[in-house]
Amino acid sequence: MAQRDYYEVLGVSQTASGPELKKAFKKLAMKYHPDRNPDDPQADTKFKEAAEAYEVLSDPGKKSTYDQYGHAGVQGMGGGAGSGFQDFDVGDIFGDIFGDVFGGRRSSSRRSARGQDLQYNLDLSLKEAILGVKKTIKIPIHKSCGDCSGSGAKPGSSPVKCSQCNGQGQVRMQQGFFSVQQPCNACRGEGQIIKDHCGACRGAGVTEETKSLSVSIPAGVDNGDKVRLTGEGSATRGGSPGDLYVAIQVKANNIFERDGRDLYFEAPIPFEIAILGGTIYVPGLESKIALKIPTYTQTGKIFRIKGKGAASVRDSRRGDLMCRVIVETPVNLSNAQLKIFKEFTDSLQSNKHYPMKESFKKSSDSFHQE
Ligand SMILES: [Zn+2]
Ligand SMILES: [Zn+2]
Repeated sequence: MAQRDYYEVLGVSQTASGPELKKAFKKLAMKYHPDRNPDDPQADTKFKEAAEAYEVLSDPGKKSTYDQYGHAGVQGMGGGAGSGFQDFDVGDIFGDIFGDVFGGRRSSSRRSARGQDLQYNLDLSLKEAILGVKKTIKIPIHKSCGDCSGSGAKPGSSPVKCSQCNGQGQVRMQQGFFSVQQPCNACRGEGQIIKDHCGACRGAGVTEETKSLSVSIPAGVDNGDKVRLTGEGSATRGGSPGDLYVAIQVKANNIFERDGRDLYFEAPIPFEIAILGGTIYVPGLESKIALKIPTYTQTGKIFRIKGKGAASVRDSRRGDLMCRVIVETPVNLSNAQLKIFKEFTDSLQSNKHYPMKESFKKSSDSFHQE
């Protein structure tokens, strides 16, 4: 099906102002809103079409892209056409536009009964975060009450239909020109009233419990990442449970510092290895790694060990280990050792054996002559 022109959908000209667009959308939304046309799928389509057109045309950036490239230009821009629509929150735009008319968001309407989302902060070691781990966590949760099967009514009894709203949960109110729906006060929008409360949950329909959950943490998570466990949040009376978010906190590590996929660390090397070269063993995530140190290595040199860093949750390619070496000066030498050392160092010539020192001396001399 060809997509209709957004201006045509809203019935406005290309030069329509913000308030004109809003007014046009408001009119259509009033007419086609799903709440007002519960059994008319065509109205739903028309409502979405209008909402999509408004979302694009009311955003100056998207509007100019649309004017230039048409539907293709705004595809996948959040409010775009076709499949991008799922990302688009009708509730937000509706609340924004109708706040003044309906007196607030419709969050109290019966359709939105859903348990709370919960967050659990999980501490992981660096190794667990990078390699992935299975953890068992204990969380306090609201569970649908077993005694009353979540109804909140005393077993054997059942909630009765609210007489105020005739079980609709909504009442119609006249406000100026508009006839608007509001949640029923008597039953708080639930459409039913509990006369005899269930003893186990005191009418709440939910009880609090501690639940053990096994969580698979994928490899490569980092501070602030969240793993969502759908439906493991709080239960609520007559609604679906919320989700549980496991928020990752990675404990500081005394060797590694993580920067995205790369892991940095410092390794001291004995001065004889710095001079003669040799092999040192450095910590890798899985096991020790042999690192070849070439002759005449200076402090501060960084060796990159490819593919031994962290992966990302988004793709499994691993970053690198970055090893910065520090030449360690030997300490606690005996007089005999110091004597040999002195004999050796007396044989050194600054301009030949210490090029860094020489070049620094030159810079510093010219600095003082400036
Ligand atoms: Zn109960
Ligand atoms: Zn009611």
